[in-house]
Amino acid sequence: MTRSERIHPLSQRLADQIAAGEVVERPASVVKELVENSVDAGARKIEVSLEAAGMTRIHVIDDGRGMHPDDLALALQRHATSKIRVQEDLTEIGTLGFRGEALASIAAVARVTIRSRPSGASVGTQLISRPGAPPERAEVGMPLGTQIEVAGLFASVPARRKFIRAEATEIGHCMDCVQQVAAVEPAVGFRLSHGGRKLLSFPASDEPGRVAQLLDRRGRGPYEAFDETVQGIRVRGWLAHPDHAGRQRRGPLLIVRRRVIRDRNLSQIVRGAYEPLLGPRLSPVACIFIEPPRGEVDVNVHPQKSEVRFAAPQAVYAAVRSAMNAAIDAAGWRDAGSHGETGEAPGTDTQRSIQSAAAAWGASAGRSTAATAAAPAQLRRFC
Ligand code: ADP
Ligand code: MG
Repeated sequence: MTRSERIHPLSQRLADQIAAGEVVERPASVVKELVENSVDAGARKIEVSLEAAGMTRIHVIDDGRGMHPDDLALALQRHATSKIRVQEDLTEIGTLGFRGEALASIAAVARVTIRSRPSGASVGTQLISRPGAPPERAEVGMPLGTQIEVAGLFASVPARRKFIRAEATEIGHCMDCVQQVAAVEPAVGFRLSHGGRKLLSFPASDEPGRVAQLLDRRGRGPYEAFDETVQGIRVRGWLAHPDHAGRQRRGPLLIVRRRVIRDRNLSQIVRGAYEPLLGPRLSPVACIFIEPPRGEVDVNVHPQKSEVRFAAPQAVYAAVRSAMNAAIDAAGWRDAGSHGETGEAPGTDTQRSIQSAAAAWGASAGRSTAATAAAPAQLRRFC
């Protein structure tokens, strides 16, 4: 037996890099984790700036509750979190994060600078961490909140760098992430820029307003709100007019317990419901919230938290299918005939759709704000 066949514990550094591989796939993974942390910290405004598609620098600034100076070093440790304490907490997770490994994973593959100032503190604390080196701490002047800068992503992991795609692709993934968190956090304002150029800007709003910001970007065709409960499973959301459909790979936006999830079966069901209107090649634009009864969803099944497990998946599928069909019937799109993929949409009817959507939410239509984001044709990326 050779030396290499014997078992030996890996160095902490290598173990951290391996674990990081599950969480940090590309710049967008970092953006997602940092933005989710800011949301969990109660931020009202989150600003993300990227340089070189996030490979040289990702900077996230929030106005959330900040961290105690002694917590900055802990935040970088694996399995250290302020969000859960005991096993029972896992079934009632109210935060976007809970695994306590995002910052540790990011710090294993990049230089991380955390600056944070909680309320009551007159100055902020800064911690600079470099892979394999002890962190450096200092005091800094800064507004309340937290600022995290991630530089030189994968500089020490050439194998991972090979999987990074063209800048436009990586920027697109980052935009997706911000849009996905924005979809579930309408009361939070989000901005994303690249090289100083504004890519996204979503002012704080309510849910109908945020959906208008996200779905009405092209100003084409109305969208429909629906809300139905089938056997205790609430399915609600927003369906864009069939003229919004495109050839995008991504399915509709599916949201479970404040998380955007991936689920091929559910995406297929949504596509299936639209198929008579669109044909099989086009993908509809829709934003669907699925709310099974408490305890019927396990969110702790995926390192990036982008999948969930339903206790009764068939019941969820049936509920979504029924809600989708009813919503499409109610929208009257079938009567209008099917829509070709190149057909121009009828004139924008944002106000009507916001009003019908707001009514479904019991919200005031007057509070909705129109989209102000500058990014072109982002609807395609959204789904
Ligand atoms: P998790 O989010 O799963 O707890 P993370 O590694 O993402 O794990 O973060 C570790 C801890 O650092 C969090 O539990 C939180 O207490 C703290 N933290 C991270 N980012 C922020 C932030 N922007 N504002 C305040 N606290 C933060
Ligand atoms: Mg987190």
